[in-house]
Amino acid sequence: MDAYRQIVLASRPTGTPNLGNFRLEAGPMPVPAGGQLLLLTKYLSLDPYMRGRMNDAKSYAMPVELGHVMEGEVVAEILESTHPRYRQGELVLGKIGWRTHAAVAAEDVRRIETGGNSSTTALGVLGMPGFTAYSGMKVIGRPKVGETVVVAAASGPVGSLVGQLARIAGARAVGIAGGAEKCAYVRGELRFDAAIDHRAGSLSRALAAVCPDGIDVYFENVGGPIWDAALPLLNRYARVPVCGLIAHYNDARPADGSRVAETMLTVLRRSVLIQGFINTEFAADHFDNFLKELSPRIQSGDIRYREDITDGLEAAPGAFIDMLAGRNFGKVLVRVS
Ligand code: NDP
Repeated sequence: MDAYRQIVLASRPTGTPNLGNFRLEAGPMPVPAGGQLLLLTKYLSLDPYMRGRMNDAKSYAMPVELGHVMEGEVVAEILESTHPRYRQGELVLGKIGWRTHAAVAAEDVRRIETGGNSSTTALGVLGMPGFTAYSGMKVIGRPKVGETVVVAAASGPVGSLVGQLARIAGARAVGIAGGAEKCAYVRGELRFDAAIDHRAGSLSRALAAVCPDGIDVYFENVGGPIWDAALPLLNRYARVPVCGLIAHYNDARPADGSRVAETMLTVLRRSVLIQGFINTEFAADHFDNFLKELSPRIQSGDIRYREDITDGLEAAPGAFIDMLAGRNFGKVLVRVS
């Protein structure tokens, strides 16, 4: 059996994280107590929310303590089970963090239900990011036939599904992504109606050109200059699910809020609905339908996804830093064993 390893938060970043903020540690193999399971991590999911957990600031979740294991969800194999509901060799989902093994209570894991799709989809298109897109669109975005839906980080797990759900609803899907290769994928493989490269300059003009009828749903993944480009194009009764603000996660100080007044005037004059959400708020009402509706569409190829897999737990900090800078292309996973 491989030796136990984990990655802990060594120091808190100021601005963009660097490799020195993380530390790889070896240690004794965890031993499962009565009723517990011994897990071996197969795949670790790296997600933008982890940047917030590195700050010593109150949010919707507690920060990771210095010296503690970085938080994260994994697909794991059960190496030992002392619980009657689980057998050795089964694959489960669990929030055990950036580590190779863990001994956990059976209540802290879930069986993987990907309906014949790869187990890794449980961390991406059929997992937390996919459900975020699905629930944000279902509850807040509610796209209608002929409307225009705009989303940035469009090649990633959340944005790629937002646009594909817009297309399925009969709306026009406009994606914003970094670089020509990602834009070609968003248009060609994901079949969005248009894709714009936010690194190419003239974002406001380019976005206005592909949204001649304005924007009815702006699914907010990024903030910053992309919000500035979307704001003037919002139509009457536009909906804005506020899902993430990745352009601001590395801000050393809170953004100065200089466009707050303009934002609120637009909200008022055009009766725009802006609603923030954390995917877990919608899980009880919508998670089961999400799996039922999406699993067959993924298997048939109607909904497509892309994974960006890095090998080895020790490579996780670098892959995480790359994702925050947009150097990932698809759902970021680490193949741990
Ligand atoms: P991705 O895998 O798409 O990775 C992040 C992407 O963000 C990068 O690849 C990059 O894409 C883009 N990006 C980073 N910085 C900037 C910037 N300054 N300007 C424009 N684009 C930038 O991430 P996810 O799909 O996992 O997450 C997307 C968003 O959804 C995030 O904001 C995340 O925090 C949020 N989220 C919210 C949840 C909730 O419950 N509310 C749950 C899950 C995710 P590119 O190169 O194309 O610019």
